[in-house]
Amino acid sequence: MTPTLALEQLMLDPAYDRFVEHARAVMPVGLRDQHDAAATEAHTILSGAAVRLGDNLSYPTTAGDLPGWLRLGLLDTISQFAAGRATTCRHNPQADRPRPVLAAAWRPGVVVCPPCAPLLSLKHDPAADAVCDSCGHQCTGIEHGDGIYPGMVQLGPLIYQYGTCGDCRPPTASGNPLSGPQTAERDRPRGTGRVRPRGSRGRGRGRGGRV
Ligand SMILES: [Zn+2]
Ligand SMILES: [Zn+2]
Repeated sequence: MTPTLALEQLMLDPAYDRFVEHARAVMPVGLRDQHDAAATEAHTILSGAAVRLGDNLSYPTTAGDLPGWLRLGLLDTISQFAAGRATTCRHNPQADRPRPVLAAAWRPGVVVCPPCAPLLSLKHDPAADAVCDSCGHQCTGIEHGDGIYPGMVQLGPLIYQYGTCGDCRPPTASGNPLSGPQTAERDRPRGTGRVRPRGSRGRGRGRGGRV
């Protein structure tokens, strides 16, 4: 079994919360504090991004709530990062020195710090920017009722961005208490509603430490 699948199995296990509690109890206090601080900072980034996405859709979710493609993409990124196999920005973020980091479904295996978010940008490739990260559908644009929905999910210090067609949007309602990822999504395709069209996924995110 690959580390990603093992991690998935662990997170979907009903005993996952107890495992996390135990892991936290045996973790060196300094590392735990660093991890918590990084996760809190990542959550602040995600919440701010949710507000800027226009609909303030930021809510707790669990690994089981995420569709498989998104969960596996997220966990694969985490396991590559933890194993030191991710491609990083020049600031060389490391899993054992917790701080907020960003990744994207459309750039597998790349992990960057918030100021380097433009490295994940698709603004120079509008065709790629319109591809659903779930099914690969090339969205034809909001003018044809076929816009792409940007979203992001946070797990600990990692914020994982994605974009989907209307059919593949992850369900946004979860009654489950927070035990794993946190997501932020926009309820309408990019370029509609009260938010000014901003072009690409990932564009401009991260300046000044913001996503
Ligand atoms: Zn960087
Ligand atoms: Zn799709």
